[in-house]
Amino acid sequence: MSNRPIYLDCHATTPVDERVLAAMIPYFTEKFGNPASISHVYGWEAEAAVKQTREILATAINASPEEIVITSGATEANNLAIKGVAEAYFQKGQHIITVATEHKAVLDPCAYLKTLGFEITVLPVQKDGLIDLIELEKAIRPETILVSVMAANNEIGVLQPLSAIGEICRDRNILFHTDAAQAIGKIPLDVQAQKIDLMSLTAHKVYGPKGIGALYVRRRNPRVQLAPQQHGGGHERGMRSGTLYTPQIVGFGKAVEIALAEQATENQRLTQLRLKLWEQLSQIEGVHLNGHLTQRLPGNLSISVDGVDGAALGLGLQSIMAVSSGSACNSAVTAPSHVLTALGHPPQLAYASVRFGIGRFNTPEEIDIAAKHAIATIRSLRKQTTLV
Ligand SMILES: *Cc1c(COP(=O)(O)O)cnc(C)c1O
Repeated sequence: MSNRPIYLDCHATTPVDERVLAAMIPYFTEKFGNPASISHVYGWEAEAAVKQTREILATAINASPEEIVITSGATEANNLAIKGVAEAYFQKGQHIITVATEHKAVLDPCAYLKTLGFEITVLPVQKDGLIDLIELEKAIRPETILVSVMAANNEIGVLQPLSAIGEICRDRNILFHTDAAQAIGKIPLDVQAQKIDLMSLTAHKVYGPKGIGALYVRRRNPRVQLAPQQHGGGHERGMRSGTLYTPQIVGFGKAVEIALAEQATENQRLTQLRLKLWEQLSQIEGVHLNGHLTQRLPGNLSISVDGVDGAALGLGLQSIMAVSSGSACNSAVTAPSHVLTALGHPPQLAYASVRFGIGRFNTPEEIDIAAKHAIATIRSLRKQTTLV
């Protein structure tokens, strides 16, 4: 293990915390029952475990347990929220507003709806990655049914002003969905105070297992209608059929419980590590911070570097640290990141970018090693360019 690169890619995924794994294990073997089995103890104990996770998630976002719909992750939750609302409300209107820096799991369902005749407004962001609330207000039309704006960005860590957006939407009777995949357990979330109607969650960015998530669906003031996108046995009050995956659900609950208990101290620690990294990297010229300086996830540092080739930068870093570079989340395609492009970066600079995702298991020593190596790599690449 020790000679593997330092893991600094916590926005892509995180390891399962040992405490989470320990909680999950009994539910693979002794407690293997189907939570939908109502006539024996095997079913009851599984159902009790699922109920506990619903309660933990509900408490985490100030919702009630019946408003939690279990999904396979945030991608499915986003699809269910956006397509489910579109299908349920199309007679009211066919206009949806989202943002250029959203995850593909929001942008692609919107693009799909466009092929069905919906109109989609994709708001730009300002240089710091934040949306302009006046632009949002201007984009709203009588036929707008949904606004989807993420809580925390997965590339540049920027936190959007949820309360202000919620206020604008509620005043105009428009549903507000937020993709909180990067936010749960890391920043305070409150669906009442922030006037959120739908919220997508996932476990694997917060030291839980992959393949499990949830969608919060508001049941009161207003009651959100949702057309199911997967039909079957009528699980999750008909909104998402399929046998519940109890071990993953238990892990999700445990992961969020731990994250909330440790949130305040962990955020302080991560902020210090991020500032330590930025302090060193910002010593060299032509290194730009992407996204708002303070309104960002504690563990996120995204930089773009002048005068180096993006691919060479990525290659130069990879033996020492596991980070995302250039086209970040869409590594299957070699286009510059749509998020960095939305900040106004030309392709060259968008390619020459590095996303550091600092997490629970990183140490100050690792941050120093990463910073030193990144600086050396940038210097050496620049020297090579001047020689040519
Ligand atoms: C990771 C992520 C997703 C996708 O979540 P999965 O659970 O992997 O499907 C969606 N949105 C954001 C912002 C993410 O960071």
